[in-house]
Amino acid sequence: MSLSHSDSYSDRYRVLPGAALDLDAYDADDRGPYTRKKEAVADLQALREQLRALQERFYAWDKRSLLIVLQAMDTGGKDGVIEHVMHGVNPQGVQVTPFKVPTPEELAHDFLWRVHKAAPARRMIGIFNRSHYEDVLVVRVRNLVPPDVWGQRYEQINQFERLLADTGTVILKFYLHITKDEQAQRLQARLDSPDKRWKFAMGDLAERKLWDDYMAAYTAALSQCSTAHAPWFVVPANRKWYRNVVIANILVETLTQLDPQFPQPEAGLDDVVIV
Ligand code: ADP
Repeated sequence: MSLSHSDSYSDRYRVLPGAALDLDAYDADDRGPYTRKKEAVADLQALREQLRALQERFYAWDKRSLLIVLQAMDTGGKDGVIEHVMHGVNPQGVQVTPFKVPTPEELAHDFLWRVHKAAPARRMIGIFNRSHYEDVLVVRVRNLVPPDVWGQRYEQINQFERLLADTGTVILKFYLHITKDEQAQRLQARLDSPDKRWKFAMGDLAERKLWDDYMAAYTAALSQCSTAHAPWFVVPANRKWYRNVVIANILVETLTQLDPQFPQPEAGLDDVVIV
């Protein structure tokens, strides 16, 4: 995508509600305005400081919650975003929830049961490492439920997110967009590095074979569930440093617009002297 640098990051990467989506038109190698990684790394440092200060106010304000949804193909960088973008934010105000293969108890309920329980309370930033979108991604690709069941879920998800938004949750959903070639390199790097090998799962290769089916499922999810109250963003993620800068910018833009305020202190404090 080539868009003017005067756009906000939120505008540049947001999936427009109701628009046809072509993931191939999004350049996973996009490096935005940067010619050198070094400049982006310096900007990320400054953005983290802004994020830290905004989150301090957001927490004290105690009026809204923020839900960040992270979805990607394996090696897409969900863990990296949590580590590098949220680095420096007070952990007391952040809650990370990974969503794995559902347990028998979870499967005995509706698909949003486990998700609703993990929705962030007021003043909290909740991060979903995978999410209810798995129920229209892996579930669709792997035929884990019949099409008429997963087919209804887009609307059910929109209604669920509408409920969260109406009751005070700001929702931002990030799809970390990497290419199949980039995934091959990252999987190989996992195999080759003793520190990363633990992350390699043979099952990842089986999912990789279904790449095109996953892209079709992502396209459907992003185009049907990007709404004004819960937008999807397609984040160029082949370059980890640009991915981090994009997400940090969107968080800073969103929190700045919310303009959280410290609560009014009690009256008469000016005259208080601590003895
Ligand atoms: P990650 O890849 O997120 O670091 P894991 O390697 O433990 O973590 O993978 C979690 C697995 O759980 C993924 O393969 C994902 O597709 C699967 N999963 C998550 N939610 C569901 C779901 N609702 N139904 C089936 N599988 C799911």
